[in-house]
Amino acid sequence: MLLRSLFRLAAMAVLGLPVPGTAQAPSLNLYSARHYQTDEALYANFTRATGIRINRIEAGDEALLERLRSEGRSSPADVLLLVDAARLWKAQTEGLFAPIRSIVLEERIPERLRAAATDEGIAWFGVSTRARVILINRNRVPADSVSRYADLANPALKGKVCTRSAAHPYMLSLIAAMIEHQGEEATTQWARAVVANFARPPRGGDTDQIKAVASGECGAALTNTYYLVRMMRSDKPADRETMSKVQVIWPDQTGTGTHLNVTGGGALRTAKNRDAAVKFLEYLASDEAQRYLADGNNEWPAVPGVRIDNPALASLGTFKADALPVDRLGRSQAAAARLIDRVGWR
Ligand code: FE
Repeated sequence: MLLRSLFRLAAMAVLGLPVPGTAQAPSLNLYSARHYQTDEALYANFTRATGIRINRIEAGDEALLERLRSEGRSSPADVLLLVDAARLWKAQTEGLFAPIRSIVLEERIPERLRAAATDEGIAWFGVSTRARVILINRNRVPADSVSRYADLANPALKGKVCTRSAAHPYMLSLIAAMIEHQGEEATTQWARAVVANFARPPRGGDTDQIKAVASGECGAALTNTYYLVRMMRSDKPADRETMSKVQVIWPDQTGTGTHLNVTGGGALRTAKNRDAAVKFLEYLASDEAQRYLADGNNEWPAVPGVRIDNPALASLGTFKADALPVDRLGRSQAAAARLIDRVGWR
């Protein structure tokens, strides 16, 4: 019995397969803030291709950062994936990432979707993008009255604007982008006017904003694009009914472009298995994984030119995205957080 299992393990080692319960079994400890069920298959594909098992811990961005801080040097984590550029920037400034030199990643991920390069390398790379768009209910808001984020501050929208809490990273990064473009003073005035236009106090997530616009409770709201596409692809008639009642506005197409954020990740300083960490990040930049992020979770590939097969996502069309390097969203994050407190946008 013992001999037989020893033989089996030896055979697996010869075949290059991961041997369970031994030091040779390659595995990767992933801390991920991605909250999308479709990621399961993505990680399974990586394990199939490399033999490296993934042990995943999932939590919100801030909870993961808190955990890494408290684990310190003894953290078992190899890779950190977050769903907001400013949080990635924060992890970087706290020294959690060990910068990477990878020709694959540097060639495939555009400069504006990753951390700025230092002598040591690059701390993190965006792997997929999402845009933050305005949704309107045409029965409550004339379509031609909203074409910019600035229009959410128009007094004509009094009692009609809804958002999730501005303390959420998706909102903070949008506000940080506005600070980068027009300064803190102008953005504060804008935010104050948006708050004055609220239909109700901020609540819920992006999907709740979509539903509230469809129901007419709100005339205009903000959402990330993948929530829209998820609803377009839903099996539930109620979700498709919801989508038939909302209109998507791509903000600032004649100006700085629609706000873009990323999911991204980097190898941690505590990584015991640095080679596997880099291999995993390079895998995320592969055509296969990029396609999977697009087809599974309705995000756009970070790698240019990857062909995707997601008709609902494609139906959103092309748009002018904000060209601001996403690591700049981190730089103005503290200012954005102060600003929302000042104007009472919680
Ligand atoms: Fe999300």
